[in-house]
Amino acid sequence: MRTREKRAWAEPFKIKMVEPLRVTTREAREAALAEAGYNTFLLHSEDVYLDLLTDSGTNAMSDRQWAGMMLGDEAYAGSANYYRLEAKVREAYGYRHLVPTHQGRGAEHLLSRLWIRPGDRVPGNMYFTTTRLHQELAGATFVDVIIDEAHDATSLHPFKGNVDLAKLEALIAEVGAARVPYVSVAATVNMAGGQPISLENLRATRELCQRHGIKVVLDATRAIENAWFIQRREPGRAGQSIADILRETCALTDACTMSAKKDLLVNIGGFLALNDDASFEEARNMVVVYEGLHTYGGLAGRDMEAMAIGIDEARAEEHMTARIGQVHYVADALLAEGIPIVQPTGGHAVFLDAARFLPHLPQKAYPAQSLAAELYLESGIRAMERGMVSAGRDPSTGHEHQPKLELVRLTFPRRVYTQAHCDVLIESICRVWDRREEVTGLDMVYEPRYLRFFQARFQPRPPAAPAA
Ligand SMILES: *Cc1c(COP(=O)(O)O)cnc(C)c1O
Repeated sequence: MRTREKRAWAEPFKIKMVEPLRVTTREAREAALAEAGYNTFLLHSEDVYLDLLTDSGTNAMSDRQWAGMMLGDEAYAGSANYYRLEAKVREAYGYRHLVPTHQGRGAEHLLSRLWIRPGDRVPGNMYFTTTRLHQELAGATFVDVIIDEAHDATSLHPFKGNVDLAKLEALIAEVGAARVPYVSVAATVNMAGGQPISLENLRATRELCQRHGIKVVLDATRAIENAWFIQRREPGRAGQSIADILRETCALTDACTMSAKKDLLVNIGGFLALNDDASFEEARNMVVVYEGLHTYGGLAGRDMEAMAIGIDEARAEEHMTARIGQVHYVADALLAEGIPIVQPTGGHAVFLDAARFLPHLPQKAYPAQSLAAELYLESGIRAMERGMVSAGRDPSTGHEHQPKLELVRLTFPRRVYTQAHCDVLIESICRVWDRREEVTGLDMVYEPRYLRFFQARFQPRPPAAPAA
């Protein structure tokens, strides 16, 4: 996409309500960051200027969605909003059965308990934090079967989310198909930089799995963004609508888990959707224990209504072109400045390559965590670490995982920030780039047991003594 041509991606909306932003001083930011243990997750959002921590639940809802909130049918059982959502999920995603959950991990929890037996292996196109944890808590071991290019921040492969079929076949040969309940396929792949999987690869994965009686589960959290990439990049798909590509994607899988807080333009919500009747009966029974009755799954009626409307807005071509166009505008500007980022640019975020940004830091000094802290100090912009801290420890050995990628994620909330904000972001990163050699790295001083990146605390390393 030629992002110079702004009309190609100019925001397809005008602004009806505004929320003031707060600009802070460098001194205030230093105090706030020390208080937060140099972990951007622990900052108060009031101390943040542009919040690019996540695209999860941070979306701006439309006037129609807000109007839908007033149509909440807050009945304990059988809410009208549930039935509207069920019909919309069937139409858009194509699965027969819907189980609403409070957010994506609620669906992951149900599905993992439903289909995993202790000792199983669950292959996937790279891990996602909550997905893998629920697989492990259900007794499985996650096995990464993504193509090698996904682990290379400089590879220009157009579908870095693809499954490596040889790796998947080798795993099935090694442990036997009976030990592989399903393959977990994410579209797009968050931890690889929002990289898409192609329909061709998903179809081949499906065929391999069918030969062995293995199910395919889609993490559909950003499957609509994935469909946009297929439309733009996969041969022969240019004339197909995003809506059609989405249905074709889902039709190659048996079930999906969904975090509606991403693609679906809401602040909370999720669901499990699947085709098999018996599994649906069980999931519907389990959701009552862990989330709420099967017609609300931990959500208010109004949340389900906003989600149903979001499904239509998210599939609109002009929405997705503007959403991904904004991300690519920032990425292209950073590349023009020579700043190392993951390429090709994904759908929801720009990933700074901290290993190349701060090559003087060893991985043990958490370069990505350090760079996220530095960007906050510079400008009050909040980003997130996706490197060694997020990767955590191997549960069997207790050793820290050492991922090949050491990234800082700048994640774009949908419909929230303007192009001028994007320009401020670009300028701020350039200023950190200019003084990158001053960054000394961090030591971890508190480590929680689960999903440590959320709550870990750090301290800056002292500057190295000048060489004699
Ligand atoms: C956010 C996310 C999840 C988990 O969803 P929550 O709504 O945060 O519980 C699962 N998979 C992917 C790819 C995600 O981005």
